Amino acid sequence: MTRGIVQKPMTLVWLGIAVLLGADAPDSLVATHLQPIHAVVAASSGRAGGCVATGNFQVCCCGTTVDPNQVAKSCEQLRTHLRKTWLATEADSRWTPRCQVIVHASVASYVRQLGPGSEQTSGCSSIELDAGRVVLRRIDLRADAAGWLTDSLPHELTHVVLADRFSERQVPRWADEGIAILSESVTKQQLRERTWLEESHAGQQFTARDLFAVGAYPPANRHNAFYGQSASLSRFLIERGTAAQFVTFVETSQRKGTTAALRAIYSLDGVEHLERLWVARRPAPNGSILLAEQDRTRRNSISQTAD
Ligand SMILES: [Zn+2]
Repeated sequence: MTRGIVQKPMTLVWLGIAVLLGADAPDSLVATHLQPIHAVVAASSGRAGGCVATGNFQVCCCGTTVDPNQVAKSCEQLRTHLRKTWLATEADSRWTPRCQVIVHASVASYVRQLGPGSEQTSGCSSIELDAGRVVLRRIDLRADAAGWLTDSLPHELTHVVLADRFSERQVPRWADEGIAILSESVTKQQLRERTWLEESHAGQQFTARDLFAVGAYPPANRHNAFYGQSASLSRFLIERGTAAQFVTFVETSQRKGTTAALRAIYSLDGVEHLERLWVARRPAPNGSILLAEQDRTRRNSISQTAD
């Protein structure tokens, strides 16, 4: 998984990529190949499963029998859960423009949009910002890749949802990827955890301080450690509060610095304190954050009722 950034005057383009297991992604991809959605549909030679539009999504299934209605339904449900979990909002604020979701039948069609190197990935989100507004939301998915609906879609949609909150300043990479990974299936999260632990030999691991300082994506031989440890640190902090609190921590650390944010949100005495606690207990993946937050909310409402 990787993400490239293209900076233009007044505009940022982000790309978020979900990497297929066992493959290394290129260090960055830029949005130079994207065609408008109608052109992608036209290029699928009339074999498209069709396009549908809902309140917040335009979904096109190109050259595949995947039902766009089912995908759109999943997208709307996921969006609601993600916004509630990470942004702590249930307000039905419609996306304008809608998020375009293109389901490609083949790797060839997918690579035509995302460029060389993208064949090693299973999904990609493209977000364009202009003067603090999101002006393009798009997710490309490969229907031939395992887990495209259960792992890649929630992962990429998480990046898109977070962009609403971080429309002026990019989410720090470790937090953006850590949060996105926690929306994947527990099976995928466990696989990521095992992979980075197995590869955790000298020189590839990240300390918490290293993760906070990551700017550009690390080289390919550290990708698994970066993604695995970003998810691990995010999981550790979220367990000390809530998912929405974690997003507040990330925002606060951008404005006031990490040390101040750790003190204010988690009552931790700086990065070294966090490091010691995290190394002593790295929580194992135990489920999708979406389900965990729903359970937590339900438990809270039960205990409130009991009171
Ligand atoms: Zn990602």
